[in-house]
Amino acid sequence: MDRIRIVGARENNLRNVTVEVPKRAITVFTGVSGSGKSSLVFDTIAAEAQRQLNETFTAFARARLPKYGQPDLDSVDNLSAAIVVDQKRLGGGSRSTVGTITDISAILRLLFSRIGQPHVGHSNAFSFNDPQGMCPECEGLGRTTTLDLDAFLDRSRSLNEGALLHPDFQPSTWYFRMFAASGFFDLDKPLSQYSDEEWHNLLHARTKIPIDVQGAPMNAAYEGAVEKFNRLFIKRDTSELSERSRQTIRRFVTERVCPACDGARLNEAARDCRIDGHSIVDLSAMEATELVEVLGTFRDPVGAPMVESLIDRVGNLVTIGLGYLSLDRETATLSGGESQRIKMVRHLSSALTEMMYIFDEPSVGLHARDVARLNTLLRKLRDKGNTVLVVEHDRDVIDIADHVIDIGPRAGAHGGAVVFAGTVAELVDAPTLTGRYMRHKLPLKTGVRQGTGVMTVADAAVHNLKKVTVDVPTGVLTVVTGVAGSGKSSLVNEAFLAQHPEAIVIDQSAVGASIRSSPATYTGMMDEIRSLFAKANKVSPGLFSFNSKGACPACQGLGIIYTDLAFMDGLKSACEECEGQRFRPEVLRHKLRGRSIAEVLDMTAEEAAEFFPEPKLQPILRAMVDVGLDYLRLGQPLSTLSGGECQRVKLATELYKSGTVYVMDEPTTGLHMSDIKHLLDIIERLVSQGNSVIVIEHNLDVIKNADWIIDLGPEGGSGGGQVIFEGTPEQLLKAEHSHTAAAVRRDVA
Ligand code: ADP
Ligand code: ADP
Ligand code: ZN
Ligand code: ZN
Repeated sequence: MDRIRIVGARENNLRNVTVEVPKRAITVFTGVSGSGKSSLVFDTIAAEAQRQLNETFTAFARARLPKYGQPDLDSVDNLSAAIVVDQKRLGGGSRSTVGTITDISAILRLLFSRIGQPHVGHSNAFSFNDPQGMCPECEGLGRTTTLDLDAFLDRSRSLNEGALLHPDFQPSTWYFRMFAASGFFDLDKPLSQYSDEEWHNLLHARTKIPIDVQGAPMNAAYEGAVEKFNRLFIKRDTSELSERSRQTIRRFVTERVCPACDGARLNEAARDCRIDGHSIVDLSAMEATELVEVLGTFRDPVGAPMVESLIDRVGNLVTIGLGYLSLDRETATLSGGESQRIKMVRHLSSALTEMMYIFDEPSVGLHARDVARLNTLLRKLRDKGNTVLVVEHDRDVIDIADHVIDIGPRAGAHGGAVVFAGTVAELVDAPTLTGRYMRHKLPLKTGVRQGTGVMTVADAAVHNLKKVTVDVPTGVLTVVTGVAGSGKSSLVNEAFLAQHPEAIVIDQSAVGASIRSSPATYTGMMDEIRSLFAKANKVSPGLFSFNSKGACPACQGLGIIYTDLAFMDGLKSACEECEGQRFRPEVLRHKLRGRSIAEVLDMTAEEAAEFFPEPKLQPILRAMVDVGLDYLRLGQPLSTLSGGECQRVKLATELYKSGTVYVMDEPTTGLHMSDIKHLLDIIERLVSQGNSVIVIEHNLDVIKNADWIIDLGPEGGSGGGQVIFEGTPEQLLKAEHSHTAAAVRRDVA
């Protein structure tokens, strides 16, 4: 049996789906955004594989692993263990770098410990994460952080007036009480009048002080504010603190490159050890493309096996389009697409076979030039005997599939079925949306708009940008292109936004922080709906709010009960009290034109557009339908929306403005070819209403539809960072030395 068989899958919008996935082959899952691809591939296949794997552990181990609920399905046969290679960012704090996460640094250290001169020791002597190798000054971080007293103290205030500005040191906090109990200070004296001794006591003293605990005298440790701050916030691993606390800390500290190691993180002995004149620090700072070449010149026979394995792995980085990265680059600064490709490199070097690898849109962030390289790697994984599942929209990736499963026909309740399964050759003739877009590509735009003015970015030098000055026209669609690492994000997200902060960024990140937020609350419609209900029933509008006394008391208006289990993923179950309706029964008895508030929130945007003629609601409901969210329910929690759906909810709230500048970074992520057509129509409307839109893209359909193109390059990293073309799509066709021009020429040929 060489097929995985899934029977009766019903997660989210899936309609009792039965599919077969061939083993040791590449299967691409495609379909419009919201059709149900993730529900099938991640929520069903990957989740079930994980659950089955956990079942194989002993009860003792199982009790310590996260619990995976059984996906809603009838049966699965022949599943392999799954490895999900997703776009979650790697994070990992400043000790995690491209080199550490790919294990390349470990091999490099081994090489230096064997053949480096002068000889230093074993390989730990080259590790900045090991006391034997780390710079003693910065403990291997490459940076030193110190408390910034100017930010921390307000010298014009007394302690009672809150002179210590960090919130944990303000009057009434525990730390403040220690200062007060010490008897060292006049709490009403401004710091500016402190004597030297008082300053010492305030900032640096370490001693014992008598305090009174519920009538019993005790000795407590006293430490000055600087010592305390260092111990609590600087000398510890702050990654375990909340993002909010870390942000607060950042306001009070200054960071600079470590003066002892100059950022190299290693101690002197490790820094001085060399192979053919190169230190491990030099090699770690080199871009991968250059590193492969240097490694190729190493001739010492003792190091040969290590050099070979280094060339193989660093070569994989280059092959996958990450040749512009260096080993010392911190993983926390990588984009989602870059993170995914790094994970891929890790797996490519492993010897596992008979696994199931699952990729989520691996073409994200990749220029057309590099998609061919990605394909090579996917085939390599397959040829090692693995089963490769890919959720993807890119024509060039779909092209290499052994098998295609097309989900649709459309999104949400209008999707959730397998509308085609077969080979690419068969797909091209299939009567599905994907088939249609595989057959015909969008044409190159000819009658472009003229800009109404310009927004200048002057002397941009962030990251690899080489003092770039460029004019972005207003009143048109400008597309910024270039291979990965050429500097598109640096130019737009950093330089342009810094010089033009009035621009609005529309991204795919989740909208709204609260788990109670929904399209109705995010777009502001909920206020109007509440007041309509209140007027019709002569009661208070507050009754119809999820966080009021009208909400179901059992689930606090969530409709779902979350059970927190220590050390495990929480469990979710529908609230039995309100049966997921989220409100008290007496609130549900109040009707508006025959419908309860729960029924209204369960309407799709399309149904609501018919139900609410009100002028305050019509435009936003129409806009939701116009951006293709006709199927979305008003009350669906925003946390369950896909990236593409989030992006469109944001676009819907912007659709009727004018004179605004919008910035979008790879807005086609997660979008099917037909969704891209739709997105282009929406952008067209924004522009025709007098707005300016700037888009970072590598998708050829978007590039061909630009009014103006700014191409960066020619290559990534130090080989990029320059504007190599500015002009219209027609002019681009004739541009030389541009990978983008070459890709567009091939596309229209
Ligand atoms: P795709 O991966 O094809 O973009 P998804 O599988 O993410 O689509 O989503 C399919 C549909 O199910 C979408 O309409 C989405 O909004 C909906 N959906 C996804 N997750 C949930 C959830 N947890 N609760 C309710 N609806 C969901
Ligand atoms: P693109 O958006 O075209 O893929 P980027 O602007 O992200 O390119 O990157 C341009 C160059 O700047 C690359 O060499 C990249 O490695 C480098 N770079 C980007 N972000 C950072 C960062 N946070 N720290 C160090 N280098 C960075
Ligand atoms: Zn140092
Ligand atoms: Zn409830």
